[in-house]
Amino acid sequence: MTVTAVTRASAGSAALAAVHAARAAELDDLEDWVGRDPAARAARAAEVEQEAVADGDPVSRMRARLIQADAAERSGDLRAAAKEMWLINEWAHEHGNRYLIARSHLLLGRTFRNLGDVAALLEHAVAAVEALEDSVPARRRLPYVVKYADALTETGSIDAARERYQQAEELARHSTDIRDQIMVLNNHAYAEYLAGEPDRAWAVVQRMCTTAVAGGHRLDPNDLDTVASVQIALGQHAEAEQTVLAAIGGYPDGPQEADSLPEFLLTLAVTRRLQGDLAAAQHTLDACRDQCEAHEHGEILVRVMQEQAELHGAAGDYERAFAEHKRFHAAEREVLSAAREAQARNRQALFEVNEARQEAERFREQARRDPLTGLRNRRYVDEQLPGLIEQTLRTGDSLWAALLDLDHFKQVNDRCTHEAGDRVLIDVARLLTEMEPSAGFAARLGGEEFLLVITGMDGSQATEYLDRVRAAVADHPWGPVTGELPVTVSIGADAVAPGAGQAELLARADAQLYAAKRAGRNRVCVGFGLTSTHA
Ligand code: GH3
Ligand code: MG
Ligand code: MG
Repeated sequence: MTVTAVTRASAGSAALAAVHAARAAELDDLEDWVGRDPAARAARAAEVEQEAVADGDPVSRMRARLIQADAAERSGDLRAAAKEMWLINEWAHEHGNRYLIARSHLLLGRTFRNLGDVAALLEHAVAAVEALEDSVPARRRLPYVVKYADALTETGSIDAARERYQQAEELARHSTDIRDQIMVLNNHAYAEYLAGEPDRAWAVVQRMCTTAVAGGHRLDPNDLDTVASVQIALGQHAEAEQTVLAAIGGYPDGPQEADSLPEFLLTLAVTRRLQGDLAAAQHTLDACRDQCEAHEHGEILVRVMQEQAELHGAAGDYERAFAEHKRFHAAEREVLSAAREAQARNRQALFEVNEARQEAERFREQARRDPLTGLRNRRYVDEQLPGLIEQTLRTGDSLWAALLDLDHFKQVNDRCTHEAGDRVLIDVARLLTEMEPSAGFAARLGGEEFLLVITGMDGSQATEYLDRVRAAVADHPWGPVTGELPVTVSIGADAVAPGAGQAELLARADAQLYAAKRAGRNRVCVGFGLTSTHA
């Protein structure tokens, strides 16, 4: 049993820690970098990923990958994005990284939402909030709580959502960035509007406006769109028109301009029709149609037809209104069926991703088992034992490691056959499995050497248990496999002791095993933490 210790020069590791901390701060920024140039964001994340690989910073590497998956999903590459998100979610679970568990759930929620699966959205939103640790600062918790509230709104639980928006408002108060408060209020107002509560929505809108004025902040077009929607719902058409005009006028040349302008023009046309200014409404609607055709906004174009029908009707031209209405319905059906097809394709893609995920899980389970005996293998031990030891030392519980080695096993191979040897290994493994302690596990470390990990037993219980294992092997009817040749095991065990890790524990058990062999084999030797006595 060899013990290897890796020590790194402390000055070097301090410098490396500083590099990692700076990178983590940049990743915070990149994660927040929504709505700005998506291509630049993804490109920078790819660079950070490479840097993290270069100096061994796996958490940053995964965070950078998740940002790229986020960008891919936003640009419509849902299949690749979802696959990557699941993968990172798995990695985070395997490595106990709660932040990445939370963040991958957050993004998966949005992906499912975009597929129209609001139940899955809610599930992921809940999982994301649950995974967040209390140590995560208020500002970084905020998007999780807001998305959770939005998910509750979309699944029809506005009462529960209100509580969460309240909580989010509290968190936003800790932020030095006023846009955080505005964002919460905007989402809350829109939620009330969606829930058919325009009066409540209006109260929140007013708070949003007061907050913006107090902070010297100008509402952005997205916020103004909420204001206008609420105003229309309240019948305040002239005010809504002014709001939309402000939104169009105040448009910064951000990347979403091409998307939002036709939406605003359509809303503007509606407010003008509702005020009876049909000529202005028609003029605006024509401008909107031009925009849609120039930028291929098929879905908005359908709503333009609907509004055109309304406009003909308002002008008393019922014949044209009816004709336009028919066109609208035909176009709507077309858009709907195209959307359904796209959704079916996406669902299929997600299904495949899930299948691949289960396949990977099966593979991982397999990789942690010994193919001959089906017992846990060395890899599993190396992954599980350090954590068990740590936990034992924390709780003051007991943990025993027992090494089992078959006696004169070479003779089985030599005098019988190699197949007989394998049969013995398989049968010993079966006996170990049948006698596996309820708290602990059995593993094959390699060759004819096995490990039993036992927790929750005191010294005499462990010794007694191990001797029963020894006897079960010795008393097993081996005749059909080995003929005259007996099969026995020697067992060496020791208990976990403060300050000692896996390597030391196994080395001590190995010393006991050596003692058992030397004392004549087919026996159990147990050490008790620091001093070694033989049973
Ligand atoms: P001791 O009582 O001192 O442990 O004697 P031993 O003969 O068991 O000692 P040793 O460790 O020298 O021999 C182990 C043998 O186990 C050697 C190897 O051929 C055999 N062995 C290791 N793995 C397998 C396996 O998967 N199948 C079979 N059939 N034999 C194996
Ligand atoms: Mg051996
Ligand atoms: Mg042996």
